Parts: sequence; structure tokens; C-alpha cells
Amino acid sequence: MSEPAKLSAVEAIKTDSNFLRGDIAEQLANDQPNFSKDGIQLLKHHGTYEQDDRDRRKEAKASGAPGGRYYSYMVRSAIPGGKLTSKQLLEQLDLCDEIGNTTLRITTRQGLQLHGILKENLHQCIRRINESQLTTLAACGDVSRNVMCSPSPYRNRVYDEVQQLADELAKKLAPQTGAYHELWLTNNETGEKTLEGGGAPQDVEPLYGPTYLPRKFKLGVGLPGDNSADLYSQDIGMLAISENGQVVGYNVLVGGGFGNTPSNKKTSPMVGQPLCFVPPQAGVDVCKAVMKVQRDFGNRADRKVARMKYLIRDWGLDRFKQKVEEYYGEGLETPRPVPVDGHDDAMGWREQGDGRWFYGLNVENGRVKDEGDFKLKTALREICTTLAPPLRLTPHQGLIFCDLDEADKPKLELILKSHGVPLTDEISSARRWSMACPALPLCGLAITESERFLPTLMDQIDAMVAELGLGDEVFTTRMTGCPNGCARPYNSDIGLVGKAKGKYTLLLGGSPLGHRLNFIYKDMVPADDVVTTLKPVFEQFKAERTGGESFGDFCARLGKDTLLEKCDG
Ligand code: SF4
Repeated sequence: MSEPAKLSAVEAIKTDSNFLRGDIAEQLANDQPNFSKDGIQLLKHHGTYEQDDRDRRKEAKASGAPGGRYYSYMVRSAIPGGKLTSKQLLEQLDLCDEIGNTTLRITTRQGLQLHGILKENLHQCIRRINESQLTTLAACGDVSRNVMCSPSPYRNRVYDEVQQLADELAKKLAPQTGAYHELWLTNNETGEKTLEGGGAPQDVEPLYGPTYLPRKFKLGVGLPGDNSADLYSQDIGMLAISENGQVVGYNVLVGGGFGNTPSNKKTSPMVGQPLCFVPPQAGVDVCKAVMKVQRDFGNRADRKVARMKYLIRDWGLDRFKQKVEEYYGEGLETPRPVPVDGHDDAMGWREQGDGRWFYGLNVENGRVKDEGDFKLKTALREICTTLAPPLRLTPHQGLIFCDLDEADKPKLELILKSHGVPLTDEISSARRWSMACPALPLCGLAITESERFLPTLMDQIDAMVAELGLGDEVFTTRMTGCPNGCARPYNSDIGLVGKAKGKYTLLLGGSPLGHRLNFIYKDMVPADDVVTTLKPVFEQFKAERTGGESFGDFCARLGKDTLLEKCDG
């Protein structure tokens, strides 16, 4: 019998941490600007990553900064389905101005990220986020992350039910450790716990156990006509099936996940596969059963292959399903033959279904900032204090203002326009459907630029497609600074993944529907050559597309070799 594989170092850190405490409290109290290696791993579960300004490393070294780095923290709020109030957004804007780097980021998972928080301000930051009734707990780490959901605030039963499931999943799958309360929600002066409805801290994790999950775990809920939550990219995607205006159940998709290590052949991006159909009342329990199977059988020795997608690949879907049935306690129905056929980005003005309106605003790469004449941050402050609408963050890094009356429409537009913020219908189709991860200068894993480069690239792509008369085409362009794929580049029409300094892997053939992986068209493409590489492909598309074929469908139909033959002459 072979020896069990040695557990990864992170497993030992979790095991020894007493439910995610470690010595974070002691480290918070010392005057170092950073945490220990073990502390950094545990802090992720509390919603924060240690970072440093990579643009200023030389300066930091020369100045004798401890560790030769200017350390700071990214603090991520988990916001199920992206639902928050104007007041909550205002608090995050205050935090970014008072103790952050003056910008706020809407993430690709409908959360919010503050950057540049110094260690000395970390406690204040997380406490204030909780006081606004948001949380950073489990926004990162080896737990169920922020639960995504189709965010459109349509007032109809199907959307209501789908969004309720996302809320319920977020609640039922949240870690229970009292460490979060103790560390962040204690008022330093009075020792009083400040979490609303917190109750007594408990040190039991009925779902996770003391070692949590082998790796991050992602869930999303959506509809066949609105796959904005990118269900095929999730560990579990809950695809609602409705009849006569109500949800009759969910197809449960399992095993999606995009992070990979190109040099490691055991790793690859994967899209989810349909596992079963469940009635609405069984949704949460089946998700729990799936998560428990990953908890107990996922790889805890090698974090590179620890996501649930690898367990399913190694076992096969049938064996995986049998184990889920065992944990769930009964057999599971076969999935219904319902394909995904739409992706609604919820942009522009829409009637909600109750006589009121919502407005979806494109926020380029999710970055909320004031820069020159573009004053989105100030505009949002004004909207949130005057109109004060409920808000939703979208999976494409946009922002939805909900519940607006007809009379509010010109007011909202005026505020945006007077602050130099382009309205959604003034933005090109290509830009509207693009997104990027933050990458440099703060992400420690970034190999290339992403958020700082994509706007320039989109200028070039806009000019190229306009010249070809293709300016109205809908195609997704997603860029990341490393193969981790935080902005989901592996199922987009055009994917750009940082591979080496200034060079990208160019992927083609995905779709806004998100149901298939794209393929590597060319590797190591210099940033300056991306558009010249793409242009012949768009020319072929224009000449040879059939009917209303989309760009991604065209590339997928022709495939890499044919495209290269036709375009690389
Ligand atoms: Fe950082 Fe890579 Fe994620 Fe971008 S994709 S944010 S570079 S880890």
C-alpha cells in the first residue's frame, strides 16, 4: 500500500491555526508593516491579501523599508449577487479615500476591493466594512467565495427565486469560526463585539471542519437566458430551469475552474459539466454535499491540482456523482436538456417590471476613481447621497442603479455626464464587453500588465473593428496578468493571458455564453502586436462568417489550424 501523500504546507498552517486564528492578533499588535508567511495564508480567509507596490521596489529597497518593500493590503468584501446599498458603497468610498489608495474596484465576482490599506489600518478597515453590514469573511481563502448571481433587478418571480438561492447559499456555506469576530469586530477600547446579530462566537465548523477546503471554491446561480454569472466557470453553477414563470429546479453544473500552470501538464482550465437536476428546495443541500465530497477527497498535497475540477477529472463524473449521492443521502436525477442561450450584461436603461427603472453603468475594468476630467468616484458619491438607489455589482465589473422613477432618469444621466462619465450607450460594444484583472503593480502573481494596459488595447481594437465595419459586433475581450485567470479569459471570444514580460497568450473561440473553452491561437504575442495579430482574423470573419455567426463561434468553427492557415500568410 502506498504512503499517503504529504500534505501541503498550507494544510499544516490551517490545521494549526485554531480555526483561522493563528497568531494574527499578536501580529496585528506589533509594529511591523507586514505579516509572517503563515499569517498571510490565514488572512486570506478573512478577506485580505498582503501586497506590495511592485513599481516602487527599487525605491523601497533604497529607502531601507523593512523587507525592501512597501507593504499594503487588498481588502475584499464578499457581496452575494453584488447587492448593496448606496450607504454601503459610500462607506467603501470613504475607506478608499481615508486609508486606501483613493480607488475602489468592482471585482469580476461582484465584490468590492480596496487596495493600499496599511497594516496599521487593517483592523479599522475590516471593522468599518462590517459596521456597514458587509463582510470580508471568506472573500478569499480555501472556502466558498462570494456567491455570484445574475444581478438584473427584474421584479419577477424567477429572478427573485434565483437571487434568493444565491443569498441562501452564501449564508449556509459561510464559515462559522469565531476568529473573525474576535480579530476584527471587537471594539479595541471596550472589548465589545460589534457584529450585528453576531451572537456568541463558536468554534465549530460543521461544514468545513478545522482544515476548511483543499482550495478555493466558487459558486454561481443563473438562468439559461442570462448566464452573466458565468456558470460554467464555477466549481458549482446552479442553472435555473423555469416553467410558467417560476423556477422548477436547477441543473447543477460542477467542475468549472480556470486557474492553471501552463508548465504543469496536470493542470488546465475546465468548464463545468451537468451533474444532476434538483428541485429548488434541494439546491442548498446538494451544493453542501458536493462541497463535502471536495472537502474529503480533493487533493490536499498539491495545491496546483487541488480544485474540484481535478477530482472530477481523475474520478470521472459517474464516480463523483455516486459519492455526492452518498453524501446527500439519495439518488439524483439526470440533468434536464436545457442549454444556456443568453448573457445579459444588464447595461443601460431597463424597465424593472414594477413601473420603475434600473440603469446599468459600464465601469471600465471595474475601477472606481477620479482621474482628470473623469470623476466617477465623485459622481457615485452624488448619486448615492441624492438618489440613494439600491445597487448591484455585475460579473462584468459594472454597476446597476435600481428602483429609479421615471423622473430620476435625467437626474442620474446629468450627474454622470457632468462628471465626465460616459453613459453606457456612448461606449463601444468591444469596450463594454471587455474586462481585466488588476495585475500590476499590486498583485504579487502578475507577470504582465492587465488593467493598466487594456484601455489602450481597446482603443486599438475599437479603431480596427470600426475600420472593418464591425463596430457593432458583440465579443468579449478578457485580459489577465497571469494564468490564474481571475478575469475569466479562458471562455471569452478573445482571451489575453500574461505569459512573460510584455507578452501574452492569445486565445480565441470562446463565447459570451461561457459554455466552451477557447483555444490558444498564438503564444508569446508582444503587447504591441496583439491588434495586428487579430486584424487578419477579423478580416476573415467579415468575409466568411455565416448568417449572424458571432466572432467567437466563427473562430471555434474554423479552429486554430485553419485560422492560422488563412490569417498567418
Ligand atoms: Fe493577479 Fe493573476 Fe489574478 Fe490577475 S489573474 S489578479 S495577475 S492572480
